[in-house]
Amino acid sequence: MKPKKIGLLTSGGDAPGMNAAIRAVVRAAVNSGMKVTGIMRGYDGLLSGDIVEMHAGSVSDIINKGGTILRTARCPEMNTEAGSDKAAGICRILGLDCLIVIGGDGSFRGAVDLSKRGVNVIGIPGTIDLDLGCTEYTIGFDTAVNTAMDAIDRIRDTSSSHERCSVVEVMGRLAGYLALWSGLTCGAEVVLIPEQGEEHNNVDRIIEQILENRALGKTHNLIVVAEGVGGSDALAKEIERATGIETRATILGHLQRGGSPTALDRVRAAYMGYKAVECVINNEYNKVIIYKDGGYSAMDIVEAVNYERPYDNAMHDIIKLLAR
Ligand code: ADP
Repeated sequence: MKPKKIGLLTSGGDAPGMNAAIRAVVRAAVNSGMKVTGIMRGYDGLLSGDIVEMHAGSVSDIINKGGTILRTARCPEMNTEAGSDKAAGICRILGLDCLIVIGGDGSFRGAVDLSKRGVNVIGIPGTIDLDLGCTEYTIGFDTAVNTAMDAIDRIRDTSSSHERCSVVEVMGRLAGYLALWSGLTCGAEVVLIPEQGEEHNNVDRIIEQILENRALGKTHNLIVVAEGVGGSDALAKEIERATGIETRATILGHLQRGGSPTALDRVRAAYMGYKAVECVINNEYNKVIIYKDGGYSAMDIVEAVNYERPYDNAMHDIIKLLAR
């Protein structure tokens, strides 16, 4: 087999499990006779030539660590034609047979631009938001849900004691998955997600529900708000004003991005990293590794970035049904 050289970078928002994916790519590649060039800080490091040669030992002791040892960044220059031309030129100078990009939608769009310029690319989905239609799983989501669940459980303890209403805002960018999963795992009374329209997320409707819950004897109400809906502080104030129930808003923020990855994130990251290298071995390029129907496969990267998974209301319906 002809020796191959792969470039590897992490880009966009970091996610727990990215290190496990880096480890899997490096070890699978090195043990198959390939060379791996690590690129620091995503496309930023590619454009500035900030690289590090990686070997099996470079990824020792990282499987359990959150964040990414390759660091990550947002790189506006990559959104320009000149930036993409330059990045493609650098990939050629580095002699990369393939660039593996661990990141989310934006990072994959950057990879598509490189593929159009003749650079072989493979994407591995890494984002806590699960906001990629092409795959049912993204590395970091499980850890983020567990972190949010743990934080909300703690808020519940104190809010129940004080008979307060809690409004908790979780991340997720424009997707409601983190909110839905946090809501279901924490027994939320209401979950507000961008996929639901204005009518559902209406403040008056929420207040009405809280008053009904109080009439039923509920002493605590938990409202989980997705980042894409936002406005938690204002919502809490409005609920308190209209119901007289003390209401506090907590925005969980960046704590959801950190922490040691869960077993599920480590397993999925290992499989996805391994699959990416398998694609390189088989000369299958310009793909995204996806998880679907219980298995891993590779989807064409242009198809993947344009793939829209229809929103399924089932989880939201269950949350509503179990809320009283
Ligand atoms: P994520 O990959 O988590 O979605 P971003 O959307 O911030 O994160 O994208 C990460 C990086 O990918 C950006 O800083 C930029 O360098 C590159 N990128 C994002 N969108 C595009 C695009 N449409 N075309 C080219 N590159 C892009």
